[in-house]
Amino acid sequence: MFSLLKNNLFQQVKKQSTLKSFTRMSSSQIAPLDSSKLRIELNKNPKTKLPNDQLIFGQSFTDHMLTIEWNESTGWSNPEIKPYGNLSLDPSCCVFHYSFELFEGLKAYKDSKNQIRMFRVDKNMERMNKSATRICLPSFDTEELTKCIGELLKIDKDFIPEGRGYSLYLRPTMIGTTAGLGVGTPDKALLYVIASPVGPYYKTGFKAVKLEATDYATRAWPGGVGDKKLGANYAPCIKPQLEAASRGYQQNLWLFGPEKNVTEVGTMNFFVVFKDSKTGLKELVTAPLDGTILEGVTRDSILSLARERLNKDEWIISERYCTITEIVSKSKTGELLEAFGSGTAAVVSPIKAIGYDGEDIDVPLLPGEQSGPLTKQIANWIAELQYGDVESDWSRIVA
Ligand SMILES: *Cc1c(COP(=O)(O)O)cnc(C)c1O
Repeated sequence: MFSLLKNNLFQQVKKQSTLKSFTRMSSSQIAPLDSSKLRIELNKNPKTKLPNDQLIFGQSFTDHMLTIEWNESTGWSNPEIKPYGNLSLDPSCCVFHYSFELFEGLKAYKDSKNQIRMFRVDKNMERMNKSATRICLPSFDTEELTKCIGELLKIDKDFIPEGRGYSLYLRPTMIGTTAGLGVGTPDKALLYVIASPVGPYYKTGFKAVKLEATDYATRAWPGGVGDKKLGANYAPCIKPQLEAASRGYQQNLWLFGPEKNVTEVGTMNFFVVFKDSKTGLKELVTAPLDGTILEGVTRDSILSLARERLNKDEWIISERYCTITEIVSKSKTGELLEAFGSGTAAVVSPIKAIGYDGEDIDVPLLPGEQSGPLTKQIANWIAELQYGDVESDWSRIVA
């Protein structure tokens, strides 16, 4: 303990002196992330590409990866695109001990003209910088990283599978690589991007899931980091998921606080649709961004589309708290219409039941189908934009 404390103090002193030297150094010596400095080393042993029906989410990767090192005193090094392969890191690196790790998830699509499109990449880049800042890792010029990712996409273009439901999942990641066990600000980092060809999350259209409302474990809390995409948020969620699975539920519906507010589902945002039996008005509800909710790009897309396209005389779009007891009571009065999760991997994931307090709350589905009508509508709206069937400024074409 004492040595750790001493170490901390030492780190602080060291930090102060580096801060001083930082201000002394002219900013031109600290290099910004610069896509014009990109170096490319092509893979001499290209893989054979898997047929579409053999793609499993996040199991196979393209021939190349993008890596960019960062050092506190020199800034961002030249970005490199090189053969996909192992990293070599000192086992004392801070990523392995104190979870200096953050990630993003976004997709690139091939459109009908064989062009590559990234969906709302600006939102992911912005969120990546927010996550980095929260754990004292460096931020970067988002446009420059986007350009480097574009180059990776061009080089691995043949890995982007074609067809509705198919895409290339991109995983930008940043880790602290400072060697040594002192707990402090990392002075070295590695940003890298790997890419995995993926198919539709559910092979045969939608597959509605059963959730277990979870109140004995908490995914995120006020003042915590649940709104950042940090690796540290995910490992602790697997055990509750296994417990739910042992009782026949695929995912956790994370509740929070004595009120039992519904927050998120598994690693997706949560949406529910109600219908007021007196006024006939329908309401699309999701939790407000109060710091405990991951700011999903899909969540944001759904809210924008719903506000823009749903009939205002029939619909209310709400970012508000909703408790599990509200869902129970609205289910009893027939006012619960639909529920679904949202996220990049599945886009929308319909929910057919929620286990709570020893009973299942059934969520209606379209007759003979695996989702409700709004869930289906939203999935189509988003797919049209992702594949460029409908043009929008949410697509960034890689040229
Ligand atoms: C990534 C993630 C989401 C979904 O975010 P998208 O940007 O829509 O992919 C939602 N909740 C959690 C906890 C997440 O990690």
